[in-house]
Order: sequence, then structure tokens, then C-alpha cells
Amino acid sequence: MTRIVVLGGGFAGLEAIRVLERQYRRRADIELLLVSDRNYLLFTPLLPQVASSLVEPRHIVQPIRDIRGARRFRFRRDTVCDIDLAGRRVILAEGTIDYDRLVIAVGGVTPTFGIPGVEEYALNYKRLDDAVLLRDHLIDLAEHADHEPDRERRRRMLTVCVVGGGYTGIELVAELEDFFSSCVVPRYRGIEPGDYRLMVIEAGDEILRGVHPTLAERAQRRLNREGIEIRVRTRVTRVLPGAVEVSGGTQLPVGLTIWAAGVKGHPTLSGLPVTRDRLGRIVVSNTLQIPGHPEVYGAGDAITIEGNPGASIPIIPAALAHARLAAENIIADLAGHPPAVIDFAPRGMLVSLGERDAVVEVMGLKFSGYLAWLFWNALHLYKLVGFRKQIQVALDSGRARASARSREPAPSRRGPRLRSRLESPGIARCRLPGRLSGACGRRRFRSRGCPRPGPRPGGRRELALREPEGSRRPGCL
Ligand SMILES: Cc1cc2nc3c(=O)[nH]c(=O)nc-3n(C[C@H](O)[C@H](O)[C@H](O)COP(=O)(O)OP(=O)(O)OC[C@H]3O[C@@H](n4cnc5c(N)ncnc54)[C@H](O)[C@@H]3O)c2cc1C
Repeated sequence: MTRIVVLGGGFAGLEAIRVLERQYRRRADIELLLVSDRNYLLFTPLLPQVASSLVEPRHIVQPIRDIRGARRFRFRRDTVCDIDLAGRRVILAEGTIDYDRLVIAVGGVTPTFGIPGVEEYALNYKRLDDAVLLRDHLIDLAEHADHEPDRERRRRMLTVCVVGGGYTGIELVAELEDFFSSCVVPRYRGIEPGDYRLMVIEAGDEILRGVHPTLAERAQRRLNREGIEIRVRTRVTRVLPGAVEVSGGTQLPVGLTIWAAGVKGHPTLSGLPVTRDRLGRIVVSNTLQIPGHPEVYGAGDAITIEGNPGASIPIIPAALAHARLAAENIIADLAGHPPAVIDFAPRGMLVSLGERDAVVEVMGLKFSGYLAWLFWNALHLYKLVGFRKQIQVALDSGRARASARSREPAPSRRGPRLRSRLESPGIARCRLPGRLSGACGRRRFRSRGCPRPGPRPGGRRELALREPEGSRRPGCL
């Protein structure tokens, strides 16, 4: 029996197992095992819409057991703690498994660059529970600011600082602008349009690096027009309760700091005796094998391909391309054929700029505005797995947008079933689809993790939003 193990149930892991499954469907001598610490696939492009309450959290996840259906690969929900490359074993929180071929696709985490206060006072923005937590904090901020009589304090409470001007940070801030202007201001009588302030802090020379300069400039103009402050060439040196300190020691008062500063390699793999790039990602060859361990392949955000930065960017199409090739090379290897090399270049970039605006570069074609926004929506709906999810997300956004435009929250005859965009459910009530889910809540369903010396990789689960001296606590859960 040959056992092929895939680690990580994200875009890369699921794609790898899909290709392997298709090939080995009828082979009883090959065992396929997928291991992941979450039992669902998270559709990350729609995370900003979860944070801004436009889309329900459970509508952007797909349970792996549903995807698996009647297929023959096995799924094990467990946490990878280490890999014994020499012994060909994966050490999990709940046991150990041997492998003959291995695909590492555990994704990445957001780097903090060792900046003090990030773990304690900034919200992470990577996982589903991060987005739900963020949504709760935003609603709490509005609730507290609504009855704050002092305008200066109110404005400080409603100052949201997004650190990181990549597409995740920019899409988020654009979505937050919509949230404040079309949801918060019309509904909270104590909050006026000038009371909230959104800013993006980017250490590099420009926002949206990797996007065509014309489109990046267009995006920047649009955000400036909306009143969003963009500070480039600015480094955050410390995050404090109620402030961020930037290069030169200046402290900017903020109500909430959101950390969206890129991707680095997964800390679980930091002990592996392999080469890593400066971001801690595992370096693989252009056949996606780990040098010295041809039976181990890497895919997705966890890796970088030696000498091929263009094919190593942390986006979904790259993760899918890596995974397909890793699986095909395993198939070739087991059949005694030589491996193929990666041939991937991103074919475009799509960035949503909130309601009715986006910038799109696809196959050399560049466009922006309403048409681009329609394209962004259509493509992301299409990419969601399953017709039911597509309908649910379309209905969520349609309903939220319609109610935002109507300005008044219409009393619903259907009572609590129709939830307002401003209802803060609390993270413990964040439920995943159907009966098969349950990886999101902090208090419920927590799986046994590996003992770790430091904070959890990928962010924190508790945020110490401590009360700044002399001010009221902005967001409490
Ligand atoms: C907010 C946000 C928005 C984004 N928007 C876009 C977009 O619009 N377009 C785009 O192309 N890309 C986007 N991305 C990037 C995209 O999500 C990633 O490039 C992609 O998810 C990488 O796939 P992956 O399979 O390598 O990692 P992931 O999708 O992160 O999957 C990793 C899997 O490994 C599991 N795992 C992690 N650690 C362990 C462990 N120790 N044990 C077991 N399992 C583990 C995780 O639970 C997860 O299931 C976005 C990312 C974020 C955070």
C-alpha cells in the first residue's frame, strides 16, 4: 500500500487531493489522506465582506466532508505539529502518520516582524474567526461612539487603521468605508459622516504592489476621494492600546488597528531542516520537490519556488497551479516518469474598491469602475464552490445593499430570521454550515492543538484591546 498524505485543507491541499483522487479512484493499493486543522475550505476573497457584515460567515465556507462526498480519500481533522523528514512521518496533535509521498500545503501566516504590541493590540485578518471578531469590534465601536458626547473622542474611537497596503488591506478598507457610510452613519444618530476616519499604513513606496501602476493609481485616487488616508513609506514601529506609533516615534491615535501586513511561512514548519526564504517559506525546486527529499512536495502560500518569484506569489491561482503540478508529479513518479516543471504566471489581478468600483487587469486588459466591479462579483460568485453558496452570497449582498440604500432598518415580519447587518452575533455564535461543521468558535469545537511556546501561529484568538489612559474602552466582547 502506498500512502499519499496531503497537509492543509485550503485551496492548494484540496486541489492536490482532487487531482490525486481523480487518478487513483480505482486503485485499492493507494491510500489518500488529507489532514487539516479546519474541516472547511475558506473562500478568502470574500473575507472583507464578512468583516463588513455584507455576507454571512457560513456562506463563504465549504465543509470538506461535503466536498468529499462519496469519494475515497480520507479526511482527518488534526493539527500538524512537526514533520520527521528522515523517518517519513508526520507528527500530529493526536497521533503520528507515516507517508510514502507528502504534499505540504499548510498555507502561511501574517508576519508581525517582531513589532511590539501587534499580538496584543491589533486584530489579525486572515481566518474566518478573525473576520467575525473584526465585525463584532466594528459594531461595538459604533455602539459606544454613538453615545459619546465629545466629538474628538468619538472620532478617535472611530478611527480604524489598516496596516498593509496590499490587496487584502485595500479591499478591506474600501469595504469598511462602505460599511461606515451606508450602514453606520444612517443608523446611528450620534455618528456623523465626519466622525469616522479610515487610514492605511504601508511601509513600501506604493499601495497594491504587483497591480499595474495605472490601476494602483486609480485605486489610490478613489480611496483618497472617499477620504481614506493612505500613508506610504511609513513603518509601524509599535502598536499601543489606542494608538499606533510610526517611523520617527509619532503616535497616531486610533480606535482599532487591523494587521494585514503580508504573508510569511508557517511557523509549524520552522523546525524543518530545509532551506527557507527571508519570509520563512520553504524553498522548493521548480518541480515543487524539497531538495534532498524528492518524496516531499510543497504548494501554496507555504512555499517559494527557487528562482521563480513570479510563480511563488501568495494568491489562489498560484496555489492551485502548484497543487496540480505537485499531484501530477507524484502520479508521474509512481508511474516511473520524470517530473514536470512549473509553468505559471499570474494572468491578472482583481481588486474590489467597495460598492460599485473595482480595478481589474486580466489577460492584458485593464479596466475599472462599475464594469470591473460587476466582473469582480461575477468571477468570485462563479469561483465559489456549489450553486447553493453562489445563491446565498448573491442574496446576502443584494439584501444588505438594498437595506443600506433604504436607510431605515425595515421592521421584519419574519422576526429574527432576517438579521440586520449591524447585529453583532458574538464569535461563539459564528456557526459553520450544516451539521458537519464546527471549527470556528473559540469556545466550542476547539481541537487539541500542539503545545506551543508562543502565541498561536497566524494570529491571536483573544485581543487585549486595553483601555487607553483616560479614555473609554472602544470595543469590548
Ligand atoms: C483576507 C484575504 C483575502 C484574500 N483574497 C484573495 C483574492 O481575492 N484572490 C486571491 O487569489 N488570493 C486571495 N488571498 C490569498 C489566498 O487566500 C491564498 O493565497 C490561498 O488561500 C493560499 O492557499 P493555501 O492552500 O496555500 O493556504 P490556505 O488556503 O491558507 O490553506 C491552508 C490550510 O492549512 C491548514 N493548516 C494550517 N496550519 C495547519 C496545521 N498546523 N495543521 C493542519 N492544518 C493546518 C489551514 O487550516 C488551511 O486549511 C486572500 C487572502 C486573505 C487572507
